[in-house]
Amino acid sequence: MNVPDRPRAPALHAALFADPAAHSLSPQMHRAAFAHAGIDGDYTARRVLAAELPEAVAGLRQPGNLGANLSLPHKQAVLALLDELTPAARAIGAVNTIVHKDGRLRGDNTDAPGFLAALADADAPTGGLSVVLGAGGAARAAVYALRGAGHEVLIVNRTHARAQALAAELGGRAAWPETAPWSAVTLLVNASSAGLDVPQDSPLAIFPALDPRALVYDMVYRPAETCLLREARVAGLRAENGLGMLAHQAQLAFAAWTGADVPVAVFLEALRGAGGDPP
Ligand code: NAP
Repeated sequence: MNVPDRPRAPALHAALFADPAAHSLSPQMHRAAFAHAGIDGDYTARRVLAAELPEAVAGLRQPGNLGANLSLPHKQAVLALLDELTPAARAIGAVNTIVHKDGRLRGDNTDAPGFLAALADADAPTGGLSVVLGAGGAARAAVYALRGAGHEVLIVNRTHARAQALAAELGGRAAWPETAPWSAVTLLVNASSAGLDVPQDSPLAIFPALDPRALVYDMVYRPAETCLLREARVAGLRAENGLGMLAHQAQLAFAAWTGADVPVAVFLEALRGAGGDPP
């Protein structure tokens, strides 16, 4: 009797651990990258509750697992579960990518270099003053990246004490929105979650008058045009959403897992196919 072949599981696997996870665009990007590189692999988005994280991470040590991405709420909590950290992950204090090799787990942060790569794609001004809005994990990656690239950085956050603590740890200066020297600002980065899924919500009560060369970069990419980006465009400024950063951090994670240098255009194309609106 002929028994039909059961579909064979892919040889290699990577995953996203997050809560929630269902909205993630990462599976589309990494599946496109596996196909482009000709690698027999798959990527799944897994809803992992905080209490389930140790077991989920331990499972990555099994053969065939390339590693994982972490999103809210696990980027900080995962640090204690790993064997080693890259200097960037250690300094930022957050891991968005785990790389598995021979049973050992290394924590990396590809948000920081992914952010810089997206800024370069957007031809961001290199001189002048940069302002980072926010003081959470994404802001930490932004401040670390911008300081490493030689930018002078001001940090503005709803809870001012957190901006002060971040500046004391990673450099830069904390500022109040009312007194920041806005006319000298050539790069304004929203690394807060204001605007996420709420198009009318802006991280700044009043959009400030920036240097006319300024780029406004919003790490939020859902909706594609946040209130902040709309206000920037109305002011005649260049404005980019966070899809470029999302694509670049994924490309860097995929390269760390597989060694394959898949062009970022493959990741952006997958986002476009998934209903995103990449720059
Ligand atoms: P987080 O650690 O929870 O920090 C959130 C930050 O946003 C805090 O500083 C918080 O201020 C501030 N905030 C929240 N709601 C606000 C509001 N209504 N007005 C002003 N400030 C507000 O989050 P995260 O991990 O840093 O992520 C921040 C954003 O970056 C999220 O939207 C995330 O999706 C995005 N992100 C994008 C990428 C990408 O690839 N494009 C990568 C990473 C993150 P308080 O300190 O006062 O609470």
